[in-house]
Amino acid sequence: MNRLGWTILALLVLGGIALATMVHLGSGQLSSPQRSPTPTPASGSRVLRPAPSTATGASGLVIPVAGVAAAALHDDWGEPRGGGTRAHHAIDIMAPKGTPVLAAASGRIEKLFESVPGGHTVYVRSEDGGTVYYYAHLDGYWLGLHEGQPVLPGERIAFVGATGDADPGAPHLHFEVKRMAAGERWWQGTNVDPYPLLVPGR
Ligand SMILES: [Zn+2]
Repeated sequence: MNRLGWTILALLVLGGIALATMVHLGSGQLSSPQRSPTPTPASGSRVLRPAPSTATGASGLVIPVAGVAAAALHDDWGEPRGGGTRAHHAIDIMAPKGTPVLAAASGRIEKLFESVPGGHTVYVRSEDGGTVYYYAHLDGYWLGLHEGQPVLPGERIAFVGATGDADPGAPHLHFEVKRMAAGERWWQGTNVDPYPLLVPGR
């Protein structure tokens, strides 16, 4: 091959590389919308709609710990606590520390309370005023949670923890349902067993 032949060959090779590069860039541009990151809410942001995985009992109560199924719940109502000095008028839902705690029902945050036995706690009053839902041993509150805030069933309000007198090796949500007489305050009320409200047909 003479000098002209080599030059033509070199141009053809360069042209081929350029074409391949353009095709590659073009295909990259075509697929780029599919590869763009999906916007995700910043961790800690409030979710106003119920999480899609929430389980709802026959009564309409949402199991108030994310990812816990009805079959995993244990009815520990009335079990001795405090060395037999008192009975457990609640349900304990075991879950790893940091698991989202969900509102079991709609209502309004009535009180965020630092309790010696309960640790970080939340009291939610139902819209009709007749029920208070109590969440205790929380590791912390969902970002921005505040008294007076309305909540929807399944809305994330806090995180499972072991604050208060809970065993640090067994983080769980202590959940109470209290029926409230007219005029009763958040610390009053009459506890009812949450288990039948959470598990259909029991
Ligand atoms: Zn408990």
